Amino acid sequence: MSSHQNTPETSPHILVLGMGGTIAGLAPSPADNPMQYEAGQVEVASLLAHIQSAVPESIQLVSSQVANINSRNLTEPLLTLLGEAVREALANTLVRGVVITHGTDTLEETGVFLQLTCGKYAQDLGKRVILTGSMLPANAPKADGPSNLLDAIRWASTPIDNCPGGIYAVMDGRGCLAMDLAKRHGSALNAPIQDSPSSSVGLINPSWLYGVKAVQALWTEDLPIPKENEWPWVEILTSHAGARSETITHWLNSKVKGLVLAGTGMGSIHDAWKDSLIAAVKHGIALVRTTRTGAGETMPNLPEKDMVGCLASGSLTAPRARIALQLSLNAEKQAQAAGKSLTWQDFFARIAVLPVIR
Ligand code: ASP
Repeated sequence: MSSHQNTPETSPHILVLGMGGTIAGLAPSPADNPMQYEAGQVEVASLLAHIQSAVPESIQLVSSQVANINSRNLTEPLLTLLGEAVREALANTLVRGVVITHGTDTLEETGVFLQLTCGKYAQDLGKRVILTGSMLPANAPKADGPSNLLDAIRWASTPIDNCPGGIYAVMDGRGCLAMDLAKRHGSALNAPIQDSPSSSVGLINPSWLYGVKAVQALWTEDLPIPKENEWPWVEILTSHAGARSETITHWLNSKVKGLVLAGTGMGSIHDAWKDSLIAAVKHGIALVRTTRTGAGETMPNLPEKDMVGCLASGSLTAPRARIALQLSLNAEKQAQAAGKSLTWQDFFARIAVLPVIR
């Protein structure tokens, strides 16, 4: 991880971690075709230099490049690296807040990962970690990255009684809990935040803040960050018309530790999977059921009784449920190594009951 700084690290500052994404992307012909571009080209220090004149003088910035990737290529070792960088930053008394520039494709995964591994820590320390990105590359005529980055920096550094410490995301003038952010449109400038319960960045909405505090009150202990090479292998499978049992049996002789089943409607699974799922549970594969609809909660024993060994995802979408299951399986392994009889179900159940902000 290279570190670039424009202020000495001996004074209070906002740490900006660069992960890449379109916000750091460049288009070869930005005027004619801004949507044909390569993500993760510009260093985070240059993104900051570009907006420096608009940053209030009272805010000192330090930047550090964790990665510079197209986030569709996000890996688990990179999540480990980012999680450790965030925890280290939170522990540093000189860091007032953290901003992360990130590709929007997998913000959903990174948002829930940081909430579940660093959310309580950030809350206890009263520091905000703000994820942001953009839909247009850095050299597009109407690039949205600079204003998103400025909003994120301002939100990371505003007085604390406005909004508690925690893991948030800011896009298109709105902010939300990072675990609520999901890209639900391929190209709209507000794509990552349009369906997320959010507040205007300029004026925090009291009912949204009430929801944030309700989630935070229930998140009482962070889960451990898996070591780079210790992430359990978890796949997402979608139930659909014409489903085949082979889609499940295929995994029985693999090293897969868990399957997230993106079901129809309220998380229903095709009957063609029934016997092979029972076999999967016997093989020790963890099962979580969610909905492929993109909205709504998946509740236990609805619409039918759950099969033994399969948990409902609550409000978690399939990509979020996958990260939550990986962290739960890792937490189970660590708990058992420490002589505690906690299971992945105990950890996952704490996540699945987190309330939805409306
Ligand atoms: N493919 C890009 C990425 O996720 C999209 C974006 O940042 O908007 O890195």
